[in-house]
Amino acid sequence: MKIVIVGAGAMGCRFGLMLKKAGKDVTLIDSWDKQVEEISKNGINANYNGEEVHVDIPIYHQKAVDPSLKADLVIIFTKAMQLEQALEDTKSIVTDSTQVLCLMNGIGYEDILRKYFDGEHIIIGNTMWTAGLEGPGHPKLFGNGYVNMLNLGKSDKAVEGAQEVVKALDEGGLNAIYEKGIFFLIYKKICVNATMNGLCTILEANMADLGEAKASDHIVRNIVSEVVDVARAEGVEMNKEEMYQHVYECYNRETIGAHFPSMYQDLVKNNRLTEIDYINGAIAAKGEKLGIPTPYNHFLTALVHTKEQILGAK
Ligand code: NAD
Repeated sequence: MKIVIVGAGAMGCRFGLMLKKAGKDVTLIDSWDKQVEEISKNGINANYNGEEVHVDIPIYHQKAVDPSLKADLVIIFTKAMQLEQALEDTKSIVTDSTQVLCLMNGIGYEDILRKYFDGEHIIIGNTMWTAGLEGPGHPKLFGNGYVNMLNLGKSDKAVEGAQEVVKALDEGGLNAIYEKGIFFLIYKKICVNATMNGLCTILEANMADLGEAKASDHIVRNIVSEVVDVARAEGVEMNKEEMYQHVYECYNRETIGAHFPSMYQDLVKNNRLTEIDYINGAIAAKGEKLGIPTPYNHFLTALVHTKEQILGAK
């Protein structure tokens, strides 16, 4: 199986490194000049659970992809707002039988994916693996994780295709699970991302500080409540109280509470645009379509965009 990872930042490097180490045929594509130069010259040099790990792996700049390169499986790891451009730039690698696996944070990518891939070949999911970058070609990969995924297509071929992808990722040590309840898990992760990401970014607080500020609870519960209302309207059964408790787990200082979420890192630390439109913004857009009020998600989306503009984020 020829695997091409589009978006070779932190997560793309993690998946690329693990799959390549397991002997898979993996190629990377990215649009960041320094990343492409460094990996072409010196491979990926990762801090992998405290050890130096090296792997040589082919990489193309998104503007200079070899026209003969064709993928059996495309794994997408750009940021959400880069997805459409990345697919447009790399459409030469897609054939009639190419499958795509999308594990980005957020929700509502299906419409974009359908423009470039046959619906029977789309696999969506989420992942609990994490990754960071210490510099071009130097990811920092700590801890353990897993991947949940499910084919969107209904045919036997779509099921078989997704199961082959599960097997390939599993052989790479990525702990892949074929998960029929994928939409529940995606919405469950959205409950955390829709509260912790935007609020910690606007308030410049870590998750424990946010939770200990009692006045935040009203906002957190309303955001989660709206997410659950949208999920239910889409046929995904969720319990509001269980989701509040799930979000509260983020406040524990002994586990992850001292952590600043990735959106904070993107905007406040690195002055980069955020994925807010695919988290709270997607809930607000779905709410509007479904006739479900989502004022908290709407407001938080607008606040984050305002902060992006004030800071001149790129
Ligand atoms: P990242 O910014 O490190 O990597 C994204 C990469 O995509 C960059 O290297 C960028 O140059 C590249 N890119 C942008 N436009 C492109 C284009 N047109 N063609 C090719 N490449 C392009 O981001 P990340 O942290 O790896 O996150 C990727 C996705 O995974 C996001 O949706 C994120 O929310 C999700 N995610 C991240 C983590 C994590 O721990 N980092 C965990 C779970 C999910």
